Amino acid sequence: MCISMEDIIENGGADYISLSRALIRDPGFPGKIKEGSREISRCIHCNHCIHYLSIAPLRCYNGKRIKGSSKI
Ligand code: SF4
Repeated sequence: MCISMEDIIENGGADYISLSRALIRDPGFPGKIKEGSREISRCIHCNHCIHYLSIAPLRCYNGKRIKGSSKI
């Protein structure tokens, strides 16, 4: 995912990339990319965060621990 985004920007395919669920899953995603880290917790596209959006705070419902964080 990271390599594809970099390739798109470097090859002039886009001026910027918009992220949504990737940031819900791992809010540290941009900082980790900037630091060259590959320890990114990936969104599995289960859409549970969208399903509960009207009744609960926005957060990731994937129970796996986020890499590099003590939070899930
Ligand atoms: S709840 Fe599912 S779709 Fe939403 S951010 Fe987490 S893994 Fe991605």
